[in-house]
Amino acid sequence: MSQQKRRRVIAGNWKMFKNQADTRAFFSAFNPLVASVQDCDIVIAPTFTSLSAAVEAAKGTHIAISAQDVYWEKEGAFTGEISTAMLVEAGCRYTLIGHSERRQFFGETNETVFKKTKAALAAGLIPIVCIGEMLAYREAGRTENICQTQFHGSVGALTPEEFSRILIAYEPVWAIGTGRTATPEIASAVHKFVRHCAAEMFDAGHAAALRILYGGSVKPDNIQGLMAQVELDGVLVGGASLDPNSFAKIVKDWTR
Ligand code: PEP
Repeated sequence: MSQQKRRRVIAGNWKMFKNQADTRAFFSAFNPLVASVQDCDIVIAPTFTSLSAAVEAAKGTHIAISAQDVYWEKEGAFTGEISTAMLVEAGCRYTLIGHSERRQFFGETNETVFKKTKAALAAGLIPIVCIGEMLAYREAGRTENICQTQFHGSVGALTPEEFSRILIAYEPVWAIGTGRTATPEIASAVHKFVRHCAAEMFDAGHAAALRILYGGSVKPDNIQGLMAQVELDGVLVGGASLDPNSFAKIVKDWTR
């Protein structure tokens, strides 16, 4: 099931960093470094106010732009929120949904992740749906249980056709921004388990086609070990995606 050839994805999450000028400077350094890369999808998720600068700066390249979050309603009295149509209009092709920082600090639940995922799909966006356990759950031996619950609640009720258009990012919370990466073996084992959940909930074909990214302190010096795992279809990179040289190195090392 895991042997199917899946196109790899290298995604960068800039979180609340980089204004428009920083964004333009990043792309002018980054674009030439990855110009020859054809065999993977490169995605960058700037903050909302830098989206249009990123879309403009990525024009004519293979780099796609992602939002970091979205709201499920089309419009209305929802102060501070942004709709799928607004993201599409701004030139986004992807959106992150359910990042652990949204779950931890902004009350995101599996139910809201599901609604956002449905809405993003309806607008033609590609959702990168994030799941992952906190340290206490890993230490209590509950990683699979947490990932299964998040997977079921966040994407389990999609139609098979909708499911075929999403990406999952497995991001153990204890590895995000901590410098503590999951070993390639740990990441691979959870990816395998998530694929098993997909097979149970949809079918073997959908599970085999599902692209699962790993995220959590991915850096140029640990990408080689991660890329050796056939279960990993790409990475979601936070801190190391802010620097054009280190992000380009991750893209190029993975695609080698
Ligand atoms: C992230 O923000 O999704 C992430 C994985 O961050 P970092 O690479 O900095 O751990």
